[in-house]
Amino acid sequence: VVVGIVMWRQPPQHQEWKGAGTTAHFYEIILGRCYTYTQIVRPELGHKDCQKIGKAFTNAFLSKDPCGSTEQDYQPLMELTNQTVPCDKTLLWSKTNELVHEYAWVQRELFTLENTLLGYMADGLRWCGDLGSSEMNYQSCPDRRKDCSNNSVSVFWNTVSKRFAEDACGVVHVLLNGSVHNTFDERSTFARVEVFNLHPEKVHTLQAWVMQDIRNISSDSCSDASIKNLKLILSKRNITFTCENNYRPIRFLQCVKYPEHSSCRSKI
Ligand code: NAD
Repeated sequence: VVVGIVMWRQPPQHQEWKGAGTTAHFYEIILGRCYTYTQIVRPELGHKDCQKIGKAFTNAFLSKDPCGSTEQDYQPLMELTNQTVPCDKTLLWSKTNELVHEYAWVQRELFTLENTLLGYMADGLRWCGDLGSSEMNYQSCPDRRKDCSNNSVSVFWNTVSKRFAEDACGVVHVLLNGSVHNTFDERSTFARVEVFNLHPEKVHTLQAWVMQDIRNISSDSCSDASIKNLKLILSKRNITFTCENNYRPIRFLQCVKYPEHSSCRSKI
């Protein structure tokens, strides 16, 4: 009599979180993006070792508590992806994700964080591991509000945003949204991390471009209370602040989308 023994392989039991899980094919995506960036977008970085970078990225969070992520977890990854951004070419942003990247696409010499290797690799992705497993958790990851703020994704963006600001020199630009309640939002990464990590010895000026929704142009956003707060913070840090409403080159980009709008109809 042959007795068949059926072995049930349990799917890995991960902890359940309130946020969406790791992006499907996360590893293949970051590896592919690393090669695209270093071979095609910036071939001067062709010497970077994408296999090593991919491993350092996943080692930062696999087999670890996704609510106990630290800056140190990402240090090996940070060291492998160092990159120089020329002075005057750093472009920060807050609440203007689409518009800022449309502008950076045209003004090729400007760098947002997402135009650097590490930002390019991680943009729009989600990832987390689990203390009790060496695999990624594709089912769920911590939500930064409902579960924990020191989750693997938030700590990553805080860490890379900090380095991006620390490395900046000359005039730094920031594209802000004049059509939201808090144009300068104290809870944003720009406010919490980037403003405080600009080095006044290297960065003499922060120039803000405050853009309003073209369908909804209101009064002067640069005199908004939240912008006054930004100006005050910077003056205490010895960094000059300048502000321009509806910067014309970026207005033109908005006009590409809404060419019939009254503010787009005047002859250039
Ligand atoms: P924002 O509020 O418009 O947020 C931009 C994006 O980052 C949103 O998708 C938001 O959900 C996400 N984000 C912000 N803080 C986060 C956090 N703590 N954890 C996880 N995701 C977070 O603008 P912001 O907060 O000022 O961030 C933009 C600035 O910071 C830029 O200057 C950029 O250099 C950097 N940054 C970029 C990203 C990104 O997803 N590419 C994320 C965070 C920060």
